[in-house]
Amino acid sequence: MDPLGHYMLAWLIGRRMKLKRPAYRALTLASLLPDIDAVTLIFGMDFLLKYHATLSHSLVLWLLLALTVSPLLRSWRIPLALLLGAYLHILVDILLNTGIIFRGGVWCLWPFSEAECLLAYHINVPTIAFRAVYISLEILLYSAAIYFIWKREYPWEIWIGGCR
Ligand SMILES: [Zn+2]
Repeated sequence: MDPLGHYMLAWLIGRRMKLKRPAYRALTLASLLPDIDAVTLIFGMDFLLKYHATLSHSLVLWLLLALTVSPLLRSWRIPLALLLGAYLHILVDILLNTGIIFRGGVWCLWPFSEAECLLAYHINVPTIAFRAVYISLEILLYSAAIYFIWKREYPWEIWIGGCR
């Protein structure tokens, strides 16, 4: 899924959960962070194709990160929101990726396994069905963005101002 889709999904969930701004920011930011490995494009397309959706999509690493920052922040809300955002991203990738450009699966169990987690590998459904669900979800999320902007409830507002 593209960054706007990931962001909108997390933003809608955070809105529904009525999260306070710091946790809301952590949730939406973390929903984007697993794809930070796209910066490896500076080493070339082959490098990106080989390593995208590997370490940064590990459920284990995100859990360790949340457990590490929790005592530092003396709070469980932000680390939990970080974990939820990253897991949401990874879950969507596992459920809907089909490998149009990048590999389909993600290394969700790394470092225990480099097996590619991807629903499409485990159920006998035509790839076109996954793509139809994926495109429908994207259209829904883009429509939600337009709807809330039209209502003057801007999805980027949580990043403006203080942490109230
Ligand atoms: Zn991803």
